[in-house]
Amino acid sequence: MSSPTPLRPDLSALPAYVAGRTVAGAVKLASNEVALPPHPHVQQAVAEAVALGNRYPDITVSALSHRLADHLGVAPERIAVGCGSVALCGQLVSAVCSPGDEVVFAWRSFEAYPIVSVIGHATPVPVPNTAAHGHDLEAMLAAVTDRTRLLFVCNPNNPTGTALRRAELVDFLARVPEHVLVVLDEAYREFVSDPDVPDALTLLDAHPHVVVLRTFSKAHRLAGLRVGYAVGPADLVAALRSVSVPFSVSSPAQAAAIAALDVLGELEADARATAEEVGRMAAALRSAGYEVPETQANFVWLPLGDRTQDFVAHALDHKVVVRGFHPDGVRVSAGAPEENDLFLAAAAAFS
Ligand code: PMP
Repeated sequence: MSSPTPLRPDLSALPAYVAGRTVAGAVKLASNEVALPPHPHVQQAVAEAVALGNRYPDITVSALSHRLADHLGVAPERIAVGCGSVALCGQLVSAVCSPGDEVVFAWRSFEAYPIVSVIGHATPVPVPNTAAHGHDLEAMLAAVTDRTRLLFVCNPNNPTGTALRRAELVDFLARVPEHVLVVLDEAYREFVSDPDVPDALTLLDAHPHVVVLRTFSKAHRLAGLRVGYAVGPADLVAALRSVSVPFSVSSPAQAAAIAALDVLGELEADARATAEEVGRMAAALRSAGYEVPETQANFVWLPLGDRTQDFVAHALDHKVVVRGFHPDGVRVSAGAPEENDLFLAAAAAFS
């Protein structure tokens, strides 16, 4: 029987966002979360925000925007805060694309890019990664047409962990036509250890058609509270604010992000420890015979191809939930050292 609801016909073609599963009794290394709960100072700030009573949040997210502006050294008018950076991905499509415009991104990359494109009536244009599992910048440039409005570059890339270096990114940005807005998505910035992987904020002044996305979900441990932000030209930021769902960043989320900035030194040190743990995992996996692309994020990528689903099932038998992207590979987020050891033992036993 056909649906009684007049749904958009193209919704049936919408790719699903497959979230990492939580399985009772198993360790979850599937969603790139840091294994620790929010910092105690952050938990206190959330409790205080909740205790303030039944009031709508500050719709302008003013205190957090100003705090971020001080921290990043940019004007507050250049910062838009969103309900996670995934919401900002959608707001970017809403703000920039008319129906039928094209959104170019690497594939595989963050699975929300095609979803927000379709929701925003734009056409997703995925560009296959190189054999080394990184962005194919030449092919991405070649994919740009007169209809291209947005181009997502995920650096480091989710799910492969690969990262573009400064020289190649600068060269690329110089060659992207001016009618295209480039989104540099740095959700995993805090885990980068290679000094040659640029902080995208340092590229903004020379490139007016660039916007940087960051999140509090990873190193800041606020995945459940939902806070991300965009830094870009003031006119774009104003547009991002105007297409936002009103009040989408809750008061506890705003308070949590401010509190996280209070303890940033500690959070960044923990992120560096996570990055070292990822290095240990990659080395152990390579010794066990796996191909592991060099990673600058808090996860490793195993390009297992057709064996992806078998590996995911095998890991689950060993009480570890990892994230399979059939038919390309498996992404494994770093957890606590003993959780990672459990995973490494499972991986060593896979045949
Ligand atoms: N960008 C990338 C590359 C991501 O991997 C994620 C989260 N998986 C996001 C953006 C969105 O993060 P959030 O909405 O939690 O800020």
